[in-house]
Amino acid sequence: MLLHSYKITRTLPCLADPEKIRVIAEISDEIHEIFPYLNAILKGCIYNHPALTLTIKKDGKLFTLHAHHITLAKIEDEKEAEEILKWLKDLINETYGKRDPIEPNYSMAAELKALDIFRLLPGTNCKNCGELTCLAFAVKLVGRDAEITRCDPLFSERYQEKKKVLIELLHAAGHEIPSEFLDSKGG
Ligand code: SF4
Repeated sequence: MLLHSYKITRTLPCLADPEKIRVIAEISDEIHEIFPYLNAILKGCIYNHPALTLTIKKDGKLFTLHAHHITLAKIEDEKEAEEILKWLKDLINETYGKRDPIEPNYSMAAELKALDIFRLLPGTNCKNCGELTCLAFAVKLVGRDAEITRCDPLFSERYQEKKKVLIELLHAAGHEIPSEFLDSKGG
């Protein structure tokens, strides 16, 4: 067994969908060695080997595994979060038990969608970034034709929670993020 237990430590509003919640759970064991094996058997993961994160997309929800904690986004309530964490724990341990014949996959298999990015931008279309709309900026970000730091408003106090989640997503997808903007707890 690789992962013995988990504990929900923070519950926050979900930034992508105000009707849902975002959940952070601390975990009892380091789990990053299983990430390339999960990346090999699951479709649509975003794996960042240098950053030791794996984002799993399932039923429109996002689960990001870190070496020491897990974040869940677009969650209905704590009951659903517990069910997903149990599913993830079983998946991690079952995959760990049968990992020998699996060829580990170290590639970043999936790219972010512009709409995923757009929902986390301020949405004011202020044009400070040089684009006419936030959606146009999101498209440039996805295409790696722009740096997130060009969106000045995102770095203001008002949008700090959105900024944290967006930077975490971009970082997990392999975008270069200045180290001063990275938050090791993702919350
Ligand atoms: S600077 Fe940010 S808020 Fe303003 S238009 Fe660009 S992406 Fe939108």
